[in-house]
Amino acid sequence: MAKIRERYDALVIGGGIAGMQAALDLGEQGYDVLLVEKEPSIGGVMVGLNKVFPTLDCSSCICTPRMAEAAHHARIQLQTYTEVERVEKKGTGFAVHLVKKPRFLIEDDCVGCNLCELACPIDVPHEFDYGLGARRAVYIPHGNAIPQTAVLDVENCVFCGKCEKVCPTHCFDFTQEAEEVTTSAGAVIIATGLQITPMAAKKEYGGDTFVNVMNPLGMERIQSSNGPYGRVLRPSDGKIPRSIAYVQCAGSRDRSIGIPYCSRVCCMYALKQALLLTHYIHGVEVTLYYMDIRAFGKGYEQFYRRAVKEGVKATKGKVAKITEADNHDLILRVEMLDENGRVEERRHDLVVLAQGLVPGWHVGGVVDAEEAEDGFLLTPEAKVSPSHTTMEGVFVGGVAAGPKDIPDAIVEAGEAAMAAANYLERIGWRAMAGAVLGASAAKQEVVETWEMH
Ligand SMILES: Cc1cc2nc3c(=O)[nH]c(=O)nc-3n(C[C@H](O)[C@H](O)[C@H](O)COP(=O)(O)OP(=O)(O)OC[C@H]3O[C@@H](n4cnc5c(N)ncnc54)[C@H](O)[C@@H]3O)c2cc1C
Repeated sequence: MAKIRERYDALVIGGGIAGMQAALDLGEQGYDVLLVEKEPSIGGVMVGLNKVFPTLDCSSCICTPRMAEAAHHARIQLQTYTEVERVEKKGTGFAVHLVKKPRFLIEDDCVGCNLCELACPIDVPHEFDYGLGARRAVYIPHGNAIPQTAVLDVENCVFCGKCEKVCPTHCFDFTQEAEEVTTSAGAVIIATGLQITPMAAKKEYGGDTFVNVMNPLGMERIQSSNGPYGRVLRPSDGKIPRSIAYVQCAGSRDRSIGIPYCSRVCCMYALKQALLLTHYIHGVEVTLYYMDIRAFGKGYEQFYRRAVKEGVKATKGKVAKITEADNHDLILRVEMLDENGRVEERRHDLVVLAQGLVPGWHVGGVVDAEEAEDGFLLTPEAKVSPSHTTMEGVFVGGVAAGPKDIPDAIVEAGEAAMAAANYLERIGWRAMAGAVLGASAAKQEVVETWEMH
């Protein structure tokens, strides 16, 4: 792994689809970019999705080439497993303070052979599969991870030394510590994406207590061919579910949990998953309980019609409460909105909560750009300059600015890259770099001339 240099044209925070796009757009224009990702792999949410609406293309098949491109681009330096501690205005640019977390091995020496992972005796719930599968205490994040470099989870490691013994390159270094690094950049792009509304947000849905109430990202993993079960099974007993419910607006448009906004993608990802379930499980019944369907993008309304035509039951009803039966089936108390608010009890063997999107990261104390009331970055001139934040030289792309789908995240990240490039030209950042380099070259020449005599 290349050493972090003293100076970059741009710092991009977050290596999801938006951050990768912004870094690539800048790199292609000849700007030097430092792309910082806090996780051990880039790819963000997209690399863990099964298929994407409305085309039903394989998500990782689209995402992994982008990941490889970003990782191997001559102008982009990738810095994974690294936290941004502070970004502060200094002169014309920004001083950037980073903390590189220890992987407990020498990254350049790890060949990604997985032997350590196979030798490790400790199983830990796997974050990539939202706890539905397991990983080892030393592991490569997943099959499509970039870089394919192992990381040792020191919290769960028992230091048995088995990984070290099988490592063909002897790359383990248990003495590694977090490393503080300072660099500088002319512009900053924040692309720190999303988290889903916490499962515990609505107590009445039992998201944090009932084992068969799932989060939608977990369902993406179960539906994926490289997912934890290899097929769709319900978590409590490993049986094939026969009756599945989606509860819409389970974490958005709800003032009681402090999330009054619409998260824009939930109707579409629920319809996508519901339709795919009808493809994966013969004879399954999938019911989507919704208040209204918001199919806002190109081809999305047609996708909604297709899902209903192919068997997804869209039921206009508001789920008030979920309780659990003895066999872990779920009983939903539903107010049927199309039937004068009649209340019904419906039984399903699996429930997916269509959770909303909340910010993946809060900048407070790290970058002095302001957040809006909803916690996403404030873009005061959203209509004309959607990537501009309240801090000059700091731009935002993707879901960090507000909920959106992948195409919009990519478009907005491109806009952020263009705005950052314009800004760098306006402040003459590269000309200054030339002057600095010119000055140090001249100094070097003097030293060499001195030494010659
Ligand atoms: C269940 C579900 C299904 C979906 N399905 C679809 C679909 O089919 N089609 C579609 O168009 N959209 C879909 N979406 C929406 C899609 O996931 C987002 O639009 C997309 O992932 C946004 O990309 P992003 O780069 O902005 O954010 P993310 O994918 O969240 O990436 C952000 C990255 O930033 C990193 N990061 C966060 N904080 C920091 C920090 N402080 N320092 C360094 N790195 C940091 C994160 O680790 C992550 O890698 C779905 C969403 C959900 C929840």
